[in-house]
Amino acid sequence: MMEAVVPQPSSRIICLGRDTQMKPELQERYSRQVLFGGIGADGQQRLLDSRVAIVGCGATGSALASLLARAGVGTLRIIDRDYVEPSNLQRQTMFDESDAAESLPKAVAAARKIGSFNSHIIAESLANDLTPGNIGELLGGVQLILDGTDNFETRYLINDYAVKNSLPWIYTAAVGSYAATMNVLPGQTACLSCIFPESPTGMIETCETAGILNSAVNFAASVAATEALKLLTGARLNLRRTLNSWDLWKNERAEVSADKPRVDCQTCGKKDFIHLAGEGRPHITLCGRNSVQIHEHDRPINFGEISERLSPHGSVRRGDFVLKFWKEPFEMTLFPDGRAIIKGTTDTAVARDLYAKYVGN
Ligand SMILES: [Zn+2]
Repeated sequence: MMEAVVPQPSSRIICLGRDTQMKPELQERYSRQVLFGGIGADGQQRLLDSRVAIVGCGATGSALASLLARAGVGTLRIIDRDYVEPSNLQRQTMFDESDAAESLPKAVAAARKIGSFNSHIIAESLANDLTPGNIGELLGGVQLILDGTDNFETRYLINDYAVKNSLPWIYTAAVGSYAATMNVLPGQTACLSCIFPESPTGMIETCETAGILNSAVNFAASVAATEALKLLTGARLNLRRTLNSWDLWKNERAEVSADKPRVDCQTCGKKDFIHLAGEGRPHITLCGRNSVQIHEHDRPINFGEISERLSPHGSVRRGDFVLKFWKEPFEMTLFPDGRAIIKGTTDTAVARDLYAKYVGN
């Protein structure tokens, strides 16, 4: 067993199960995977002893979490800042209609779902926004980081952290019918900044504008999960050392070498970790269509107190993990750490005013 330090993040963690030694019932559970020559009994035991973080649990994160939890990765830490909505259910396979009805944080809903199909592993849930300030705490103790995010800001942050700490991570992206993935093995292969010195999102469509096929997401996640299995079972020679991309609708495929780090790379060459230093990180960001996120971290919210204060101004629904407040035409979702997602506007000033008026300055 590899024992690692479990961080003590500020938000709630749900731990489900703790049974990672290969007992007879586990041998039966994983028998088809053990039969696969590339993994075998030794590889399966390595998986059971593994600790992996999945950052972002939307469509890609759902598929990654499902595949790796079913494969028996012993500890999966799910980090996600968002809550489940009906429009997620078309592609985010970890969630049910009841999760959307409750507006459950995705990290919490995913850990519960994992517990229902594999109670022998640990599913840690962190309903947090990954930031330069908390990344060390949230990702401490894991041996591999998987990308379930939908934005380059967070990916560059993960890349900085991974390169600085010599931790492998796997980039995964999907939009429309397009899927892409790349392994980053710090010191051995190219990092994200080697390939994309500048964020390519300016040129690239997002799922909000281009839509997305659930099959493209699951394709990208399947390739990335397979790379994770190779890495965790020690099959490092089989790891892919390219950035691979596919357009499943147009039948196109491209592959770019990522075999060597670029010597002049700002991140892995010059070790200039600007994203980890938090330079230029906004406190208010657009998130998705018609909504704005306010990042607050030092404003713990007492749900009881605030629901009393908000009730005269609109309708309020208080759950264990989020509080919802409707004030036409806006819908505000508040998290216990003070973070808020405000739907009904793309104007950050409007969102900031609303937050200041009803939550605090
Ligand atoms: Zn690099």
